[in-house]
Amino acid sequence: MKCRKCTISAVINLRQHRLALCREHFNEWFLGHCASTIRKYGMISPGDRMLIAVSGGKDSLGLWDVLTRLGYQVEGLTIQLGIDEGGQYSAKSLECTHKFAKDRGLILHELNIQQEYGESVPQMLQHARAGEDKPCSVCGLVKRHELNRYTMANGFNVLVTGHNLDDEAAVLFTNSLIWNTSQLGRQLPVMEDRGEFAKRIKPFVRFYERETTAYALLNHIDYIEEECPFSTGSRTNHYKTILNGMEDEHPGLKYRYYLSFIENKKAGLLNFAEDRQYVEYLCDQCGQPTNQPGLCAFCRLVGRKI
Ligand code: SF4
Ligand SMILES: [Zn+2]
Ligand SMILES: [Zn+2]
Repeated sequence: MKCRKCTISAVINLRQHRLALCREHFNEWFLGHCASTIRKYGMISPGDRMLIAVSGGKDSLGLWDVLTRLGYQVEGLTIQLGIDEGGQYSAKSLECTHKFAKDRGLILHELNIQQEYGESVPQMLQHARAGEDKPCSVCGLVKRHELNRYTMANGFNVLVTGHNLDDEAAVLFTNSLIWNTSQLGRQLPVMEDRGEFAKRIKPFVRFYERETTAYALLNHIDYIEEECPFSTGSRTNHYKTILNGMEDEHPGLKYRYYLSFIENKKAGLLNFAEDRQYVEYLCDQCGQPTNQPGLCAFCRLVGRKI
């Protein structure tokens, strides 16, 4: 198959866009598509101080690379969760992240959960309450809390994450199956800052995972290929598999599914109450936003062992 823009062989066929591209033109398309996503959703304003959450995976490192190439100055934050079961997942992810930042002269901040709070995420999992016992629920809570805290405490006003279209479509699928309106209300490519919540942006939301993987491989980004040991059998992965099966039959389905949801929300046709109101209280201990009086869920989790 030939590249649509020149005569050499294509390295990727973007079926949903009916576009086959060679390496050079894929890179050109990828950077342009990301820049257009940033413009389309008003993600970045002049003077923004951006912090990107980097896990050492293809999405976060690829996004940091793209934003740098587009001329943005973005510092990175890696959170050491202490997930080392059945291997060295956290250690390897830190190694890839360090190398990436060092090779490009980028500033990388590090936060070690065990050093900060006396225990790793797997240890926190041991005393999580029923209903919080899924590793990803506890881990997600820790990451959300710490990313926001670190962003706000260190003079950044925008938190950048590498969520891609497959991630967002799976979350949308999960939440719409049970009509979780509070989560559906919060699912946007941009969440504007709300008091103690930093603005959050997801510039990769219009890329399929196979496109972000292709970008990382074609640009020789050394990323951690190993999956987190806790991701095996997770509900999100299960729903990703279902959506991929449908995508095979109907190319572009995931793209339309997620982006139509966003467009309908923007047009006010899906008007969840949580779009308008979310932050009600500030945690008595850490001062971060919470939806109930007293301690936030993170402070309750961290304090429960005492
Ligand atoms: S897969 Fe789950 S446990 Fe592993 S890093 Fe992601 S959220 Fe955390
Ligand atoms: Zn070409
Ligand atoms: Zn708190």
